[in-house]
Amino acid sequence: MPAPALKPRLAVWKFASCDGCQLTLLDCEDELLAIAGAVEIAYFREATDADLEGNFDLSLVEGSITTAHDAARIRDVRQRSRKLVTIGACATAGGIQALRNFADVREYAAVVYAHPDYIRTLATSTAIASHVTVDWELRGCPIDKHQLVEVISAFLAGRKPVTPTHSVCLECKRKGNVCVMVAPGTPCLGPVTHTGCGALCPSYNRGCYGCYGPKETPNTPSLSRWLAGLGVDERDLQRVYRTFNTYADAFREESERHG
Ligand code: SF4
Ligand code: SF4
Repeated sequence: MPAPALKPRLAVWKFASCDGCQLTLLDCEDELLAIAGAVEIAYFREATDADLEGNFDLSLVEGSITTAHDAARIRDVRQRSRKLVTIGACATAGGIQALRNFADVREYAAVVYAHPDYIRTLATSTAIASHVTVDWELRGCPIDKHQLVEVISAFLAGRKPVTPTHSVCLECKRKGNVCVMVAPGTPCLGPVTHTGCGALCPSYNRGCYGCYGPKETPNTPSLSRWLAGLGVDERDLQRVYRTFNTYADAFREESERHG
């Protein structure tokens, strides 16, 4: 009798993050059993205590690098992974914790912790791609489960994932939403934000907050002029770009033009 075929080994890693993107994988109710059947889950602390030695065919990495220990750990993960995919705003842009990059992290620690002298942290929070080579980036805070299933299936099949890079505006048009910026005059980051959420906020008459980070070739100066025309002042123009993807290049550069 032939030996059973070896399954690809999947690992899911956490760095500085809230676990929300890992939970998206557990939230793939219908697809999870198929995924679990197609791979050997070799390391995934959120779901199992398996901690297998050796190398991995696919590593999903959540979170940003904020400590020297994690900077060394991600290099080890990279060496042991055939393919490495970063998931979420923390891993792809440094996350909300990258607000420290514009400030003095020691001042932040002194405000938050009773004993800041116990805290061992880097001055910055940076994306995984600033430390190691990344094979694919999946945006969002949190990521979209359909895009996650597409990326896992694609890597298992040895093909390139298909995840669109256009703006949230296109999703809005497809859904037939009335534009909140044109009609009631609500500020919206949709024109410069990467697709993936299904235009969730505009579908409920709210402006987009930019959870998925900058789309390809975003025209942020043009959007800022629109927002200023709606009454957004210089200080708030800086702040709208300083959320989950504050250290993504296009949002960081535009925020630094205001304030
Ligand atoms: S990207 Fe958002 S949901 Fe995902 S780990 Fe970071 S903070 Fe949590
Ligand atoms: S509501 Fe926002 S995302 Fe939707 S079309 Fe208008 S500007 Fe674009």
